[in-house]
Amino acid sequence: TFLIVGTGSLFAQSDGISSSVMDVETKVDSVLQLMTLEEKVGQMVQYNGSWDLTGPASGTDNKQKEERLKKGLVGSMLNVISVDATREAQRLNMENSRMKIPLIFGYDVIHGYKTIFPVPLGETASWDLEAMEKSARIAALESVADGINWTFSPMIDISRDARWGRIMEGSGEDPFLTSKVAVAKVKGYQGDDLSHPRTIAATAKHFAGYGLAEGGKDYNAVNIGENELHNVVLPPFHAAAEAGVATFMNSFNTIDGVPATGSENLQRDILKGDWDWKGFVVSDWGSIAEMVPHGFARDKVHAAEIAVKAGSDMDMEGGAYVAGLQKLVEEGKIDESLIDDAVRRILRVKFKMGLFEDPYRYADEDLNNSISYEEHRKEARDIARKSIVLLKNENDLLPIDNSVNKIAVIGPLADDKDSPIGNWRAQGETNSAVSVLEGLKAAAAENTEITYSKGVTLGEGERSFLFPLEINETDRSGISEAVKAAKDAELVVMVLGEDAFQSGEGRSQAYVGLAGLQMELVKEVQKVNQNIVLVLINGRPLEITWASENIPSIVEAWQLGTESGNAIADVLLGKYNPSGKLPVSFPRAVGQEPLYYNHLNTGRPYSEEHVTYAHYTDIENGPLYPFGYGLSYTDFEYGKPELSSSSLNTGETVTLSVELTNTGNVKGKEVVQLYLRDLVASLARPVKELKGFKLVELNPGETRTVEFQIDEEMLKFYSASGKWEAETGEFELMLGGNSEDVKSVKLNYSKS
Ligand code: BGC
Repeated sequence: TFLIVGTGSLFAQSDGISSSVMDVETKVDSVLQLMTLEEKVGQMVQYNGSWDLTGPASGTDNKQKEERLKKGLVGSMLNVISVDATREAQRLNMENSRMKIPLIFGYDVIHGYKTIFPVPLGETASWDLEAMEKSARIAALESVADGINWTFSPMIDISRDARWGRIMEGSGEDPFLTSKVAVAKVKGYQGDDLSHPRTIAATAKHFAGYGLAEGGKDYNAVNIGENELHNVVLPPFHAAAEAGVATFMNSFNTIDGVPATGSENLQRDILKGDWDWKGFVVSDWGSIAEMVPHGFARDKVHAAEIAVKAGSDMDMEGGAYVAGLQKLVEEGKIDESLIDDAVRRILRVKFKMGLFEDPYRYADEDLNNSISYEEHRKEARDIARKSIVLLKNENDLLPIDNSVNKIAVIGPLADDKDSPIGNWRAQGETNSAVSVLEGLKAAAAENTEITYSKGVTLGEGERSFLFPLEINETDRSGISEAVKAAKDAELVVMVLGEDAFQSGEGRSQAYVGLAGLQMELVKEVQKVNQNIVLVLINGRPLEITWASENIPSIVEAWQLGTESGNAIADVLLGKYNPSGKLPVSFPRAVGQEPLYYNHLNTGRPYSEEHVTYAHYTDIENGPLYPFGYGLSYTDFEYGKPELSSSSLNTGETVTLSVELTNTGNVKGKEVVQLYLRDLVASLARPVKELKGFKLVELNPGETRTVEFQIDEEMLKFYSASGKWEAETGEFELMLGGNSEDVKSVKLNYSKS
């Protein structure tokens, strides 16, 4: 017989096989064969820690959960936070259950745990993969110390719609950039080896299509075909799977009528089949049971049958697997091998994480006390300033000159210490961010007088996941004071945008402008002082067309987390030269949504260059600020792109190079972007697609040659014949500092 080794396990060693030589698969099988059907189903159940686990459960529902926990009939818990609570829940399980299989504790650690980093959309604007890996590493370390084993992150849903509230949680509209971020995040959370004490398991979510909800309405149906699924939605998931992400989460939405949670094609055929991925899939919250309202399952038992067949391994809080799985096997409706496959996957992750060796896995006060939160805040400030995007800078307002004597800081978010924390804030405390006002006061020159007036109020009432946010639309009492302050000042820094809870889950909006009375405020202020620097704090792309026409300087500062105000002050005062680039298009009007740079051409209107696209007659075409866009305090000039050869054959590599010069007066960093277009293919291909990028820092006057290697791999797409392949013919390669401003060169690809 096979044996399991380690404290907490009920099995003793008797045949001389040590734990180090016994591989994970052998261990998994040895546990599996000793489990009853009921215990196996138990592993596939995840419960919410809806009661204080340091004391006895109250209420029938919680008591039942606690009973199951003691019997070893729960595989995982979510939202159990703190050393005491995780230890106690684990103790209940380990000390009472027959099999003593450790629980795995999951939590939404989305952009930091206690130290809060920029929301993912903002962080992606840094295009700095190393920094993004580091912030995940820090989040892992902080959460491990509280007993968390597993984060439901990264969210790598492509989204092209500013209306969708969860656009803040992902990396924007581009599959290539999102794939790179996915890998960086997985590496950051999981390290090289999940058994290392300071790692947590990551989750690639939501599989799949969730971000393309029709009309940007959360949870809505997704109607895409194979082309978009494979070429747009799946690449980041494939990258995460290749990077060894421990788990996947499926999603609430239907795709072409099939709930993702019940999709055999997605989970069994593609993920576990074609990609040969070995981790486990957790459902989204109740998404198995939600197949009943979708009209895809008759009841919870039927939903359980569909989900387990499709390859959903763990039921998050939905109760469908508890209600149905055992019965379905006993009645012969499903084969027990399906259950075994799911349990094997769950146990595999638990073994890999070392949970069998130490079920309490480093949840201890000592580790907690050893964490240097000061260090983490330094990193948070660094990534926050890297995430800031300078959208407009006329009249030399920025960086703010030392000679400016009086600055009026105005706006509902100017001294808001909460909104920069953003949604999905884990253990980031309410009102714990450095506000813009605080940041500026701390860093401005001594001679600079800074006044503050709020002007108007934005969000009101309860701020939490479950409560829709009320926006104040009536209180104008602070506007006149703000106008007076603006009149008296040399420069106005206006801080507008969104309350933290305007974006996030269930927070889709039909308008994406500056909500409430903010437009009224900025227009009144602008009448008396045109020297305005507008700082935006928001989770989604905003419609800021009026501002772009009337305000000289605009800084996109997202929800930057704990160090927000300091990072913004660094940029406004020129202590950091902004280098962020938009990971998502900003619309001129909400009616343009969904809006994305990597769209297909139309046949009309006719044009020589065949650059034609769908448009409206009542608005200028294209985005207000395109994907990849962002300014610096210096200027960069691109030379003519050169190819080492204008033709590429199978197995070859050609070099694409361009000279980049810093033509301004200060040192700066540029994100050099490479785009590609397949001119004629078996499926119509996007007008351009990002295929590479490089962060290049140059001193004033310095020129550097930036190179990209082009090979067949880069030309591949999911073609009309249903496979990833490069098709022969002509390609256009484009280089530039954003998706619209590019210089191009042609390449011919042939198969020898
Ligand atoms: C969200 C997931 C999240 C889960 C657990 C769901 O509502 O869609 O992204 O991980 O809740 O909190």
